Amino acid sequence: MKITRVTSHVLQYDLPEELGYSQQFYAKRSAHLVEVETDEGITGWGECFGPGNVALANKGIVEKVIQPMILGDDALDRDVIWHKVYNLLRDHGQKGMPIQALSGVDIALWDIAGKVAGLPLHKLIGGAHRKRVQVYGYGMMLKRENVDEHVARFRAEAAEIMDKGFVAAKMKSGLGPKEDVRLCEAVARGVDGRGKFMVDANHCYTTSDAFYVGRALDELGAYWFEEPVAPEDLDGYRELRAGLKVNISGGEAEFNRWGWRQILENRGLDIAQPEVCAMGGVSEYLRVLTLCHAHFTPVINHVWGSAIAVAVNLQLLAAMPPLPGGLNPWEPMLEFDTTDNKFRDALLVEPLRIQEEVCASGGFVTIPDRPGLGVEPDRDFIAKYEVD
Ligand code: CA
Repeated sequence: MKITRVTSHVLQYDLPEELGYSQQFYAKRSAHLVEVETDEGITGWGECFGPGNVALANKGIVEKVIQPMILGDDALDRDVIWHKVYNLLRDHGQKGMPIQALSGVDIALWDIAGKVAGLPLHKLIGGAHRKRVQVYGYGMMLKRENVDEHVARFRAEAAEIMDKGFVAAKMKSGLGPKEDVRLCEAVARGVDGRGKFMVDANHCYTTSDAFYVGRALDELGAYWFEEPVAPEDLDGYRELRAGLKVNISGGEAEFNRWGWRQILENRGLDIAQPEVCAMGGVSEYLRVLTLCHAHFTPVINHVWGSAIAVAVNLQLLAAMPPLPGGLNPWEPMLEFDTTDNKFRDALLVEPLRIQEEVCASGGFVTIPDRPGLGVEPDRDFIAKYEVD
């Protein structure tokens, strides 16, 4: 089965309101879908992490750099293709955008493999360790508001996320250490013991400021403190993990098995958050998952983007072995963005309807069992939102 074409579709729309995190405000939602076609009429879908102009630049890598390397190759040789592309791109980027671009192609090849076998992705990997997975909601984004307005809104939004049935709520921080502690207290009050809450700093603190916020999180009983310091600051992660009670999480900005080996050996993470659409696709995710488990580091996938990204992550969460296992094992969660996202909610011919299911089931979503990723994008929808 030969690969005949590799196409990127970059989708974009104006959000109903501007949203922010510790690094910037943004007013557009974007998604980068990858379509791989074959001479037997089977098409696979993947997704590359990265918004806006990053997505447009990655489209160039997918179509102009990777496509010529793999045209005519057997679409089922996904591991051979992964290594061929990686080895040819090594001199031009072992991390970052070339690997994000490769991720989308690799995911599409796994979708094809599942469709050929007539099996969902989790069966190809080795089966479902769980039939359903718990879901946490993230929201509580930064806006151009003063601190008091943030505090009131974060408390109300945290309560709303729990009312919707999510098992936990995750907030952004980034106003400054003192102001952020007020936000964390507001979210703890909003959640009010109904579930866990987590804080995502998107690497905005120095180590000493992260200790200041982290000590408040220890008192408030937060579940994890995500990307407290820059991903390159391995010493900072190790010191924070040794000095705080709250779980230190991160890794969404790390790539491939070699990057992950370094952060795992450094012992700075309580919870690893690999991003399959960035760090090398399903092929590399499975190797990194094994590496995390070899270090006894539990994994909760980072999830961002369209229904394609959500679908592949549902399959991977199903196929994740329990670590360390037991009668009442530690369980992963699906990350779910509660802010406006048409590319998740309206992209598919048959939508995933996760929020409805979470609400009805008390926080869970069942694992789909159709072949491959189990999703079919609506081509009219893609045409409507595609930019180039
Ligand atoms: Ca994050």
